[in-house]
Amino acid sequence: MNQPIIKLSGLGKSFSGNRILHSIDLEVLPSQVIVVIGPSGSGKSTLLRCCNGLEVAEEGSIEICARKLLTNGNMLPDHDLNHLREQVGMVFQSFNLFPHLSVLENITVGPRKIQGMDKQGAEELARALLSKVGLSHKADSMPATLSGGQKQRVAIARALAMKPKVMLFDEPTSALDPELVGEVLQVMKALANEGMTMMVVTHEMGFAREVADIVVVMDHGRIVESGPPDKIFVNPREERTRSFLQAVLTRNAQSSAA
Ligand code: ADP
Ligand code: MG
Repeated sequence: MNQPIIKLSGLGKSFSGNRILHSIDLEVLPSQVIVVIGPSGSGKSTLLRCCNGLEVAEEGSIEICARKLLTNGNMLPDHDLNHLREQVGMVFQSFNLFPHLSVLENITVGPRKIQGMDKQGAEELARALLSKVGLSHKADSMPATLSGGQKQRVAIARALAMKPKVMLFDEPTSALDPELVGEVLQVMKALANEGMTMMVVTHEMGFAREVADIVVVMDHGRIVESGPPDKIFVNPREERTRSFLQAVLTRNAQSSAA
């Protein structure tokens, strides 16, 4: 019943001979929210990208809903890989909307082209999702006319349209002006409250404290510690965690004073 949605075992990944991820073990259980933190370059994005097959790890295994995406460094063949990928929604820092499609079309294109849904069904689904992210009035707008926060909420709706089992967020608010961060975090919080399983890379420590079940701290391609937010933020075991949290606090204090 409580089978992990994502299970990583001994995951290892190199880029041109450089070790980026070292024997990562991690389980994401149904409805859990895992927040991944750590310094720039520590491998957070690579970790997420391996979980939906955007990067190929050459060591270890990845299971998505008990199905093997990667076994001892061997990826599933493309056909099966694409199917498994649909179960893993991803939202990037840079929105990545299709600029030539309307908001509604951005959301319907996946269900129609990949899942074979009919136009009417896909549009009903898209309108329901737009309402969920507070953007019903933008269905016919083009992405270029939206604010960053609105674009990111469309990107979330687009990912949800594929009915994923888990959502991966890679610094979804890092490219936003500070006044637009809240509306995106609000949507993510609502998703978490509905029971969506999520893995979130973010520097928003307030979000992590409030929403995360588990905070995972990465450094130099390793998980250095993990635990509930109370433990990681109040009483971290590792000096590396302390200095990272201190650096984030200092940066946040400076940016709010600016
Ligand atoms: P983070 O998201 O924690 O900042 P990344 O996963 O983006 O870290 O990167 C981890 C390390 O892997 C960095 O040293 C980065 O330069 C390297 N890296 C990431 N992607 C590539 C790539 N496509 N080719 C070569 N090196 C990469
Ligand atoms: Mg990154």
